Amino acid sequence: MSHATADRYAWTEPGVEDLGGGVYRIPLPLPMEGLKAVNVYAITDPGGVDLIDAGIALVPAREQLAAGLRQIGYELGDVRNFFVTHIHIDHYSLAVELRRTFHSVISLGEQEHANLIATREMVNGHGNRFFGADGLRRLGALELITELSAHNRQPPALIEWEDPDRWLTDGTDLDLRTRTLRAVHTPGHTRGHLIFHDAAAKIMFAGDHILPYITPSIGFEAAGNRMALSDYVGSLAKTLALPDARLLPAHGPVTRSTHRRIRELLAHHDTRLDETLNAVQAGHATPYEVAKAIKWTRRHRQFSELDLFSQVQAVNETAAHLEVLAIRGQVAHSVAAEGTDLYQVAAAS
Ligand SMILES: [Zn+2]
Repeated sequence: MSHATADRYAWTEPGVEDLGGGVYRIPLPLPMEGLKAVNVYAITDPGGVDLIDAGIALVPAREQLAAGLRQIGYELGDVRNFFVTHIHIDHYSLAVELRRTFHSVISLGEQEHANLIATREMVNGHGNRFFGADGLRRLGALELITELSAHNRQPPALIEWEDPDRWLTDGTDLDLRTRTLRAVHTPGHTRGHLIFHDAAAKIMFAGDHILPYITPSIGFEAAGNRMALSDYVGSLAKTLALPDARLLPAHGPVTRSTHRRIRELLAHHDTRLDETLNAVQAGHATPYEVAKAIKWTRRHRQFSELDLFSQVQAVNETAAHLEVLAIRGQVAHSVAAEGTDLYQVAAAS
């Protein structure tokens, strides 16, 4: 591992980071390539703990959470609340598992309801055989469906996709014992994503809405959302309108400024929109073809160099950018006979 790579993943090292004011960062392991860990944040007071996000329902994550809490003087049974930023398995599933034993209260953004229903249908075999298969067909990525089927991957954790105890609406103030957190609806990464903002302490629990090292995947969710990228860019603008804060992300280290990272993410999507438009102008028509025509990651890698999971993300992200270009009238959208999305340069009016 190079020095740069080692530094890049320093935040995933097991342990507890004291962020001051009774707030602690506890990274928990993930079995996902590239992501490596998810940060759970403990907000403590003498009576107990409230957690932002929960980790994945697998034994190593559960044990590391218990160890982290023990290090700061608490047990799993002291967790009163899980405030979960979004429905993804690495954030939600351990909360559901721990609730069975400890009766902690789970809160989740109300717009995640559609994803919860769609996920249950998928798991029970009424929908796609795996996450996003119908979507990939529409995006012209039949090859990826074949490859994914060949992998026949089991979900990394088998959990019951149970409802939370409480659905949170945009703007809800959560009165904790030591601070007030405002839940702000930031759709894009998923349709029901929430960030939790403590304006007084100038900190933001950003979930996967703002990540320091990577650009969050867009609209990777069971219910699907064709407007995911325009929603996301709108959510970035909404977050930029809030006072600047320390960034406490779900993946990556704590950094100084939400505003600074939001500006970088907005610039990234502007560049990606330009690249996407160029690819359509060069004659690439389906989201899959366009994704293969552009460069990925900050190292500008070819699509074929990405792992399978990243290729799926890349095709979805390309589709999201094409949809924004279509909304702006820069490309025209049509649907081929077999149901595949096609894009071409908009006719000059
Ligand atoms: Zn995540």
